[in-house]
Amino acid sequence: MKPPCCALCGDDAFEDLAGALVAFAERPADAAWRERMERSGGVGHPPNVEWFCPRHAPAARARTHLPIDVALTQLRELTS
Ligand SMILES: [Zn+2]
Repeated sequence: MKPPCCALCGDDAFEDLAGALVAFAERPADAAWRERMERSGGVGHPPNVEWFCPRHAPAARARTHLPIDVALTQLRELTS
């Protein structure tokens, strides 16, 4: 289990602080990961899901139609 901290700035992203767990569009590798987990009954942190702090959650939620690598690149450009 990953500790809930923002993928962009590392701040705490606990849900009670209005942080958010955001799921992005699945790439083929992400879908394969999910199917593997479903078959094996395993659990884990999906590769297309990340935590965001309250400051970055709205921008992240606006990009859930993108794969996570593209979304994170755009978000890092916004915050740099
Ligand atoms: Zn943040």
